Amino acid sequence: MSTSNSLYQHFLSHRTVCTDTRSITKDCLFFALKGENFDANSFAAQALNLGAAYAIIDNPDFLLDDRTILVPDVLTALQQLAKYHREQLHIPVIGLTGSNGKTTTKELINAVLSEKYKTFATKGNLNNHIGVPLSLLSLTSETEIAVIEMGANHQKEIEFLCELAQPTHGLITNIGMAHLDGFGGFEGVKKGKAELFAYLKKHDGTAFINRDNPYLLEMTAAADLTKTVYYGKQANNTISGTLLKTDPFLELSWTDQVKKHEVHTQLTGAYNFENILAAIVISHFFGLTEAEINAGLSGYQPKNNRSQLSKTDKNTVICDFYNANPSSMIAALANIASLSATKKVVIIGDMFELGSEAAAQHQLIISEAEKTHINTLIFIGKHFYDEKGAHRGHFFQSPAEAKEFLEKESIADSLVLLKGSRGMALEQLLPLL
Ligand code: ATP
Ligand code: MG
Repeated sequence: MSTSNSLYQHFLSHRTVCTDTRSITKDCLFFALKGENFDANSFAAQALNLGAAYAIIDNPDFLLDDRTILVPDVLTALQQLAKYHREQLHIPVIGLTGSNGKTTTKELINAVLSEKYKTFATKGNLNNHIGVPLSLLSLTSETEIAVIEMGANHQKEIEFLCELAQPTHGLITNIGMAHLDGFGGFEGVKKGKAELFAYLKKHDGTAFINRDNPYLLEMTAAADLTKTVYYGKQANNTISGTLLKTDPFLELSWTDQVKKHEVHTQLTGAYNFENILAAIVISHFFGLTEAEINAGLSGYQPKNNRSQLSKTDKNTVICDFYNANPSSMIAALANIASLSATKKVVIIGDMFELGSEAAAQHQLIISEAEKTHINTLIFIGKHFYDEKGAHRGHFFQSPAEAKEFLEKESIADSLVLLKGSRGMALEQLLPLL
């Protein structure tokens, strides 16, 4: 480990790590990271005053007393500490990446595995070069299995996160039109995500593969993966499943080739079928019984604005405003189109990080939305506005403009889809629905 052993000793005695002075916990190790607009070195004294045991800094100007620990680079120190800590724990770590459904699948896997094991899963969406180390540092000697979400928007990021998390098992949820800008197009997304398979291959890890996804099959062959466990719709998989009902919640049957089981979930959106099957195949692999698997699945209620069906005073709203990209947008449109309701409204916001594909992809989503025969279509954001043309529907340049419209034209007794990229913050429209 390039950071000193004493840092690990401090970690072992204090156990909690903080990076934000607004959420200091007593006796934590405060890592003074640099952001785009701040340098937390200058918060070291404040962190100590608020109760941190030590502050790890990389600018000697902020050295105070022996509670400030100077390292060459705070971010690297955090990452190396996390890597070292992970190495001390001889447990299965399930590494999870993919374009869509990582968090949902991670939550589902955790909900099911925790029926039998002491698990740890990434909190929220802490899936990047800072989030993954923080997740790893939350593992304890009690943890029996960890589920670590890994996000990426450029090449070599998954490779790096794998070096830290050292997954023994892995899953790529799917490959879609997400972060095209940073990855360099769709082929770039495949290449970037395949870094997880390359890591598993090199370290004799096991991959769970959705056989229904041709891109994943292609990548499995390209990586020459041999330790594989397949799932999907066809009967030749270790776990195969059939979607029985989608309206409004998913019901499915699944089989481990011995017996058929049925499960009723609290998830909406047919696209969640593959996420659920992933959770089944992984928990089955780790020895959970049918009863444990079904209890974990049926008890899981999304509360994170991803495919969450909420009843308001006036409407039923599919709260899916956590994020959006072309593939998840198409899946969400297909979902609302398939649900039964007398009146349906789609309110969708711009999709970010599409680079040179932005115009074409927004154009495509407008056409897809028009095909769905939804009663009211509302498009929000500059990208959609630019593609307005002669399309039907209401187009607004910003959520503020859409708000004004919704205040005048109240929407009631409808099934509403509310979805857009995180930066659009479409949750601000929820009070009007
Ligand atoms: P992020 O990149 O923000 O971490 P994520 O991959 O973790 O996203 P989730 O947060 O689980 O994805 O889901 C975000 C949205 O993506 C969901 O609300 C839903 O609209 C869509 N989605 C989830 N699973 C799938 C899937 N298997 N295929 C297509 N779209 C999906
Ligand atoms: Mg996520």
